[in-house]
Amino acid sequence: MPADLTHDSAARRRFQARLRSWYRRSARPLPWRDEPSLYKTVVSEFMLQQTQVSTVLPYFARWLKELPDFAALAAAPVERVLKLWEGLGYYTRARNLHRLAQALVARSTPPRTPTEWRELPGIGPYTAAAITSIAIGVPTACVDGNVVRILARLTGETRAFRDSTAAAKHFAALAESLVPAKNPGDHNQAMMELGATVCVRRAPRCSECPVSQFCIAQATDTAEDLPRLAPKKMEARLVRRLWCVDAQGRLLLRRSETGRRQLAGLHELPELDEVGLALRQKEKPLTVKRRTITRFQITEEIYTRPPDAALRHAANQSTLEWVPLDELSRVTLSGPHRRWIHELANIRAATNA
Ligand code: SF4
Repeated sequence: MPADLTHDSAARRRFQARLRSWYRRSARPLPWRDEPSLYKTVVSEFMLQQTQVSTVLPYFARWLKELPDFAALAAAPVERVLKLWEGLGYYTRARNLHRLAQALVARSTPPRTPTEWRELPGIGPYTAAAITSIAIGVPTACVDGNVVRILARLTGETRAFRDSTAAAKHFAALAESLVPAKNPGDHNQAMMELGATVCVRRAPRCSECPVSQFCIAQATDTAEDLPRLAPKKMEARLVRRLWCVDAQGRLLLRRSETGRRQLAGLHELPELDEVGLALRQKEKPLTVKRRTITRFQITEEIYTRPPDAALRHAANQSTLEWVPLDELSRVTLSGPHRRWIHELANIRAATNA
């Protein structure tokens, strides 16, 4: 059987050495690893939450060009920050990153410990560990889904976890014990890299794995079954939205303000009840869209109405705005909203043609 990483400190040192040399040979060249800085680490960690590296790359390049440091980000209007984030989703991250930059420039020096970082906007345990280990050299472990998967397989842990938080808690001590005092950031990035490229969820590439000699799941052919996590409980939601274009070719949009923090500052198609409209009997939607956000499976039905008096009255509300269809690029829309609006605008143009 493979060496016991939990109890054998010599095995842990061999593990660290093998992982480190593999990472030095095989790490993907990524822009935040190139001439690293605290700013690049923070921005990349925020962008990479819930988002794949390939999606983040163009956003990161544009962001660094437009807002090259904490001072530039702190001084930027929130609308510009959201516009640069447009399409990356989970917009609370952009607002928190903006607030974080403002908090950092107000201090004489950045905090140094994970505990201090966690007092800043948008910083949870994983991000605090990633920033302090990579940019400051604090020997602390990052435990996310990738690391849980690797550790569950290495240890052959077959117990079923309630959710990913419970699994992360279970593996926290082992993860900490594996972090070397020297170059802890490289170790954490190597674990992330291993989880992203070799110890992947389906069909892990065990024959290419630098730490396969420590892996119980590989020895017992159980890698694909681990970790065992209870399926997420999903919640269904139905949203009914309005598509309304007036005679001047302007579309009615709602600007989200403080009520729904994750959307604040974004424009979207208003919901029917927000403009005092109810569904008519047997009314059919123009289109139906489906998407999943965290644990919500959302069905969005989009209905159309002419811009009659009731709508003009509703449009006097401060959060509603008529935006010319040919000026939509000036407002910030979520990725799905921009796609739907283009699709419906094209249908409208084709129908009117
Ligand atoms: Fe993952 Fe396979 Fe490596 Fe084990 S040997 S850590 S299952 S890739």
